[in-house]
Amino acid sequence: METEIVSELMEHLSDKKLEAALKVNTTVRAAMGEFLRDRGFIEIPPVIFSTVTDPLNHPVYDPSFEYEGTRYALTKSMIFHKQIIVQKFPKIFTFSPNIRLEMPEKARTGRHLLEFTQLDLEVKGATREDLIKLGEELFIHTLEKVSEKHAQDLHDLGRRLSVPCAPFKRYKFEEVAEKYGSEFETILSKEAKEPFWIVDIPLKEREFYDRESDVFPGILNDMDLIYPEGYCEALSGGEREFDLDRIMERIRRKGQTYEQFKWFLEFAKEGLELSTGFGIGIERLVRYICGFERIEDVHPFPKVPGKVSV
Ligand code: AMP
Ligand code: MG
Repeated sequence: METEIVSELMEHLSDKKLEAALKVNTTVRAAMGEFLRDRGFIEIPPVIFSTVTDPLNHPVYDPSFEYEGTRYALTKSMIFHKQIIVQKFPKIFTFSPNIRLEMPEKARTGRHLLEFTQLDLEVKGATREDLIKLGEELFIHTLEKVSEKHAQDLHDLGRRLSVPCAPFKRYKFEEVAEKYGSEFETILSKEAKEPFWIVDIPLKEREFYDRESDVFPGILNDMDLIYPEGYCEALSGGEREFDLDRIMERIRRKGQTYEQFKWFLEFAKEGLELSTGFGIGIERLVRYICGFERIEDVHPFPKVPGKVSV
C-alpha cells in the first residue's frame, strides 16, 4: 500500500494542475493579506492546539492529547481566540490551519479535507452588514489580482473566471429552505452565475457563539457566502454573542457543558463586546478559481477523508 500511496503522490506533485493551483494560492494569500493590512488589520499567528476549540455543528472525530496533566485539542477553528484577542486589537486576521477529522463519506463532496486553512478575521464593534461589505470587497479584490496575474494559467486550465460586482444577491435561509428543500444550497449554487449570500440562519443550524437577532428570535445574525457553478459554501460568519448569560443559556440549550468551554467562559466573565467575523477556506477558494472538481487537486499533501495520506 505504501508504494501505491507514494507513486500516487509523486504523480500528483508533477501535475500541471497542481502547479497552477499553487501559483494561484500564492497570489490569493498575498492579495488577501495586502487587502486587510491596507485597511488596518493586524495579522496574528495561528493557534494549532488549545484547551478550547470550536465545537462545530456537525460530527467529526476529536483529536486531543494530554501534556503535563492538561488536555489540549487540535484547532478546529480559532473562533474563541479571535473573540478574545479582538477585544484588545479591534481588526485582526490569521491564516489558520484547521484540523477537522471529517467522516469518510465527506470525501464525496469534493470540498472537504481533514486539514485546511481558513483566512479567519474578526472586527470589534462591527455588524454583519459591515462584514458582508468587507467580504464582498475582499473577494472582488482577490479575484481581480488573480485574473491580472494568472490569465495564462487560467487559460491553460480552460477556466473562464469572471469578477463579480457588489452587492451580491442575498437569500434568507428559511425562505430558500422552504422553496427548494434541504438541498437548497447546492441547487442555488448550481443555478448561480455569481456568488451570493445566505443570511438569517436558524439557531439550531449553528454553534452557540453566534448572536441571536434581537428582532427575530431563533434567527442568528449570520451569513454564508456561496460560490456559483455548484462550488457551494465559500465562507461562514456572523455577529458573536457577547452577553455571558446568553452564552451560558445557549451552551445549555445545545446540551453542551460549561466544563468544555471553561477557558473561554473565564474570559467572557471579564466582559466581551460585540464583534463580527468570518472564515473563508483557502483551498476551496483556489479550487473555485481554478475550476477543479476536487479540492485535493489544489493541495500538495491533501488529507482526504477516509484515506491514508502522507
Ligand atoms: P465553518 O466555520 O465550519 O463554516 O468553516 C469556515 C470555512 O472553512 C468554510 O466556509 C469553508 O470554506 C472552510 N472549510 C470548512 N470545513 C472544511 C473542510 N473540511 N475542508 C476544507 N475547507 C473547509
Ligand atoms: Mg460553514
